Amino acid sequence: MKKFKMRKATRKELKGPSLTIKWASASSFFIFVVFTIFAVITYKSSVNLIVEKERENAERTVAEVGNRLANVSSNLTISEVYEKLKTPSFDENVLDSKKVTVEGSLMEMDTMLSELGQPALFLSVYDKEGTLVFETQKVRSELVKKEKQVAEIKTLDDKTGFLIIQPVYSKENREQTGYIQAFYELSSFYDIRNRLLLTLITLEVISLILSSVLGFILSTYFLKPLKVLRDTMDTIRKDPQSDIHMPDIHSNDELADIAEIFNEMLDRMRRYIEQQEQFVEDVSHELRTPVAIIEGHLNLLNRWGKDDPEVLEESLEASLQEIARMKSLVQEMLDLSRAEQVDVQYPNHTSNAKQVVYQVFNNFKILYPDFVITLDDDLLHEVTLGIYRNHFEQLLVIILDNAVKYSTTRKEVHISISKTLSEFEIAIQDFGEGITEDDLDKIFNRFYRVDKARARNKGGNGLGLSIAKQLVENYKGRIDAESVINQGTIFRIHIPIVEKRELQE
Ligand code: ADP
Repeated sequence: MKKFKMRKATRKELKGPSLTIKWASASSFFIFVVFTIFAVITYKSSVNLIVEKERENAERTVAEVGNRLANVSSNLTISEVYEKLKTPSFDENVLDSKKVTVEGSLMEMDTMLSELGQPALFLSVYDKEGTLVFETQKVRSELVKKEKQVAEIKTLDDKTGFLIIQPVYSKENREQTGYIQAFYELSSFYDIRNRLLLTLITLEVISLILSSVLGFILSTYFLKPLKVLRDTMDTIRKDPQSDIHMPDIHSNDELADIAEIFNEMLDRMRRYIEQQEQFVEDVSHELRTPVAIIEGHLNLLNRWGKDDPEVLEESLEASLQEIARMKSLVQEMLDLSRAEQVDVQYPNHTSNAKQVVYQVFNNFKILYPDFVITLDDDLLHEVTLGIYRNHFEQLLVIILDNAVKYSTTRKEVHISISKTLSEFEIAIQDFGEGITEDDLDKIFNRFYRVDKARARNKGGNGLGLSIAKQLVENYKGRIDAESVINQGTIFRIHIPIVEKRELQE
C-alpha cells in the first residue's frame, strides 16, 4: 500500500503534457518538416530554372549579334555595326538551303531589335582596340577585358548579372574585328526570388498555425472518449461503491472497444464482489445451524452426559453427524467457488460425451442396485463436448444424486442422450416427489432447498444445483427442469459440441 502511494506521488509530480498537446505538436511538427522539404525543393528548382533561362537568353542574344558582326571583314565601326544589326544576316548555307522571303527578313529583324531592347540587357560593341562603337543603353562604356568570357554572374556598378565577353572574328579573313560585351542584369530574377521566398515562408507559417489549431481540435475531438474513460475510472477509484459505467461510444474504433471491455470488466468485478459478499453471508448462515447443534450437544454432555451413557452416546452421534454435514458443506462450497472460476482455468478442455455418460450410468447402477436405471442412447457416434471431463462428470453426478435422493416409491431413473447440430442433450428423469412451479424458479439458487428439514435429513445443502448451473453456463451450455408434483422431475442439460468424432460403431 505504501509502495503504491509513493508511486502515485511520483507519477503526479512527473505528469507531462496531455495527449492532446502531444498529438497536436507531433502533427504540426510533421507538417512543418514536410512543408519545409517541399518549400526548399520548390525554391531551389525554381531558382535554378530561372537562372538557366536567363543565361540561355543572354548567350543566345550575344551569339546572334556575334553572328551578324562576323560579316564585317575589317575593324568594326559604328556605321557597319549599325548596318549589320539592322539588317538580318544569312549564312551562305542557310541561303542555299532556304528560300528567304521579305516578310521572313522583317520578322527576324524585329526579333533582333526586341531582344536588344530588353531593359535588363546592356550590350556594347567595341573595335579591336577596345574603343566603344555601339551600345544598347548608355550605362557602361569600358570593355572589362580583352578576352573571351563565358556567362558568369558578376557585380558591376552595384548591379548583379551575367557578364559575357565575346571577341568578333570576320567570316571572310578570320581576323579579329572587335568585341561584344553583354551584361544581363538579374534584378527581376532577384525580385522573383525574394517574392517566392516570402510567399513560401508565409505559407509555412500559416500552415504551421493551421496544423497546430487543426491538430488540437481533432485530437480533442478524438480523445474525448479517453478523457471520459479516465474520469469514469477516477470516479470509481474515489468511490468504489458507485455503480457508474462508461457511457456508450459510437465511434466503432479502438476507444469504443476499450469502453466496452472496461464496462465488461467492471460488471464482472462487481458481480464477483457481490457474489463474494453474498457467499460469505450464506455460508455463515449455513454454518450457524450445525455449530449451534454441536454446541447444544456439548452443553448437554457437560451437564449430564458425563454420567449418563445414553445421553453421551446420543450426543456424540448427533455431533459427529453435524460435523460430517459441515464437512460436506465445506466441500460443496469449495466446489462452487471453483465452478465460478472455471472459464479461466479450463478454457480448451473437452470430453467424450458417450464415454462419460456410460461410466457414470454404470457406477450408479452399482451404487443403487434397488433402482431401475435406464439409458436411452440416440447417438450413433461419439461426440466431443467443450467441457472439462471432471466437470461433466460432476454435473451428471449432482443431477443423478438428486434423482435418486428425491425418488419416493417408484425407484426408477431414466437417462436419455441425443444431439442437435451444435448441442448435446442429456435428460435425466425421476418419478419422485417433484417440485412445485414456484420452487422450480429457485432450485438453482445457492442454499435453496424446497423443504429445509427434509433436505437436511437427506444430507442436502442446497448447493448441488447451483454448482451444476454455474458449471454448465461457464461452458456456454444450459440447464433447465420440468416437474409435476408427486409425479417426478426431468432435468435437461445442453452442452455445445466442439467437433464430430469418427464412426465408432
Ligand atoms: P440439495 O443438496 O439440497 O439437493 P440441490 O441444489 O441439489 O441441493 O437442490 C435444491 C433443491 O431442489 C433440493 O433441496 C430439492 O428440494 C430440489 N430438488 C432437486 N432435485 C430434485 C428432484 N430430482 N426432485 C425433486 N426435488 C428436487
